[in-house]
Amino acid sequence: MATSTEIPETVALESVTEFSDEVDVVVIGFGIAGGCAAAEAAANGARVLLIERAAAAGGTTSLSGGFFYLGGGTAVQKATGQDDSPEEMEKYLTAVSIDPEVDKIHAYCVDSVDHFNWLEGLGFTFERSFYPEKAVIQPGTEGLMFTGNEKVWPFKDQAVPAPRGHKVPVPGETGGASLVIDLLVKRLGELGVEVRYETGARQLVVDSDGTVAGVTWKKPGEEGVIRATSVIIAAGGFVMNPEMVAEHTPHLAEKPFVLGNTYDDGLGLRMGRSVGAELKYMDKAFITAPIYPPASMVMGVIVNKFGERFVTEDSYHARTSGFIMEQPDSAAFLIVDESHMNPKQNYLIPLIDGWETIEEMERDLGIPEGKLQATMARYNENAAKKEDPDFHKAAEFLEPQDKGPWAAYDLSLGKAMYAGFTMGGMATSLDGEVLDESGSVIKGLYAAGASATNIAQDCKGYCSGTQLGEGSYFGRRAGRHAAAKVTSRA
Ligand SMILES: Cc1cc2nc3c(=O)[nH]c(=O)nc-3n(C[C@H](O)[C@H](O)[C@H](O)COP(=O)(O)OP(=O)(O)OC[C@H]3O[C@@H](n4cnc5c(N)ncnc54)[C@H](O)[C@@H]3O)c2cc1C
Repeated sequence: MATSTEIPETVALESVTEFSDEVDVVVIGFGIAGGCAAAEAAANGARVLLIERAAAAGGTTSLSGGFFYLGGGTAVQKATGQDDSPEEMEKYLTAVSIDPEVDKIHAYCVDSVDHFNWLEGLGFTFERSFYPEKAVIQPGTEGLMFTGNEKVWPFKDQAVPAPRGHKVPVPGETGGASLVIDLLVKRLGELGVEVRYETGARQLVVDSDGTVAGVTWKKPGEEGVIRATSVIIAAGGFVMNPEMVAEHTPHLAEKPFVLGNTYDDGLGLRMGRSVGAELKYMDKAFITAPIYPPASMVMGVIVNKFGERFVTEDSYHARTSGFIMEQPDSAAFLIVDESHMNPKQNYLIPLIDGWETIEEMERDLGIPEGKLQATMARYNENAAKKEDPDFHKAAEFLEPQDKGPWAAYDLSLGKAMYAGFTMGGMATSLDGEVLDESGSVIKGLYAAGASATNIAQDCKGYCSGTQLGEGSYFGRRAGRHAAAKVTSRA
């Protein structure tokens, strides 16, 4: 391919003289979405071939923390006394979405307990325990915690809050979901799905009426064409493609570290585009530099370079970051008094300095005179009454920041250590069929996981676990739908 933004040409079916394989369903990419799609297609009677460009399964899924966003009364929620219902989950996910796809959210919530059971049926058990702290990820293997904005205004008034971040029982910040990938490898083996590694999909094959009918592939020293009734693209996003990132999500291009696997180069999306797929939310990215833990930092006050508050500080970390990106120069400071300071250094958000007075801090931070002093005075006066009429911060995080000295942490883009990944992908139907810009189905083509758009749409509404959750759930739906086409014809 000449450039990494190039849309690959399609290959006409009638021009192909020889096929390396003829299958019902070919799945491109073995992360959570591709693995689940292949498993469900095979379990429903389709002949499935999965091609994976890397030498092993896993992709970005294997790097991930291992949260699955599930609810509506899962066994973990019940065992830990956390009330939830599909209705409240649906209200919440609808409220946090910028453009909710109501049919998808409804199905995801109604089927969530069943999907939880299916995941456990792969051969692991989410620990029946709850981690109550305000944290990015629990330090141990606790099975459940709050991983979104459920308890944050305005959402806390729109749906009854419930924790829904279910973590696979692997401690640590990364690598949790590799356990699920290992189990999917095993499951695909049991189902007789062939997985071909070091085999990269290149171009879609289309028949004379535009139906997608296969894919070309390449591996070191070999290439060929697979004929398939359905092609499922589950090849991840584009965070590792610098040109695409610069074009679509410039905040990610500028300073933060990107999070993804080598092959997150957007080729799956570009293959979809080659047959007219609509790409949605291409300008949206998950981007974050968490201010917590410890929770005491959430007691602090976040201001922009004019000394104004703009977000409730108890927001889920990516929501806070999303608001920071929108501030002038994407600049912001977290101000905390001595009694609430993090005793340890949080390397993600650098400590600028400490000051004996807010006045001196204001001057040194370059904030217009009097602005920060006024913001702090108002905040402290209200916090003393456990009130926040401006941003509705929860009472448990409201304590006056009035005992100097004061510390300021730099949350500005380029100063704090932001990390992120892209959120754009192909528009899809409830069953993962790829849609064109008129909303029509592109026959023969499906997309799932980070190659598709479903529930997670932007940084401000993101909750940890939605991508593994939706990748697995809608991946399964795509696999089932593709298999039904074949078996109904048989
Ligand atoms: C550090 C980190 C932590 C995260 N934690 C969480 C979390 O706890 N919960 C959550 O929900 N989300 C989390 N995410 C996001 C989540 O991991 C991803 O969105 C999700 O794993 C994407 O799954 P996928 O199956 O779509 O893609 P991937 O897992 O990336 O799989 C795609 C596969 O396709 C292959 N591929 C690419 N191009 C081709 C090609 N042309 N031909 C053949 N194969 C190809 C790749 O090699 C890869 O194996 C995290 C992300 C990161 C980076």
